[in-house]
Amino acid sequence: MTDGASHDSTSIVESLDIHNKHFPKVTKAAKNLLDDSAADDPTLKRVVENLFGIKLRCHVNPRRRKTLKEEELPKGMASLTPNGTLRCDADLEMDYRGKRQAVGYYYGPPRDEQNHNFCESCPLKSQCCHKTNTDGRHVIIPFAKLPNISTDDPPMAKRFQKLMKKRPSVERMIYRLKCTLGDRYLSKRGNSNYQASLVALHLIIPL
Ligand code: SF4
Repeated sequence: MTDGASHDSTSIVESLDIHNKHFPKVTKAAKNLLDDSAADDPTLKRVVENLFGIKLRCHVNPRRRKTLKEEELPKGMASLTPNGTLRCDADLEMDYRGKRQAVGYYYGPPRDEQNHNFCESCPLKSQCCHKTNTDGRHVIIPFAKLPNISTDDPPMAKRFQKLMKKRPSVERMIYRLKCTLGDRYLSKRGNSNYQASLVALHLIIPL
């Protein structure tokens, strides 16, 4: 790796290659590689899967797609991000429920942590839901509205989100290595102090 102005995504195959040379068992056992939206490139995903058998997972690069506004969406819906986050006119996030084969992505009414359905008491209900509706708003978004998303691995799905939650802990560790434990914070100079700091660092890493 160099400090040059190369795009983040260009380092992936090279890094995996080096990793594979040093730790082939780890590379072989790995199933997913979690990255940020800079790696959202179908060709790169294909190459990583073909060469290493690893699924490269990341959010859709928002630069490639715009958030859709209400005029492009079903009644009562205010916005749809490129990652499939759908918000209604009450500015609440619709609850992603899964795919309806050959039709689209299916969303149910917004819910709080106790699974309470917000539509029941929403002042906009009469404009948003049919008058016979007792379950709250349900919407299907056609696959074509979210062309950058893989229908087999949509980022709104709970399993995708559960996986991506692991990324911040890795980033926290990188921050610690780069900043908190950087040598500019060494209060004492000299080789032995520097080595002591490295030993301490290696003791901390597994924590
Ligand atoms: S009725 Fe439900 S979906 Fe419609 S705006 Fe109100 S909370 Fe949102």
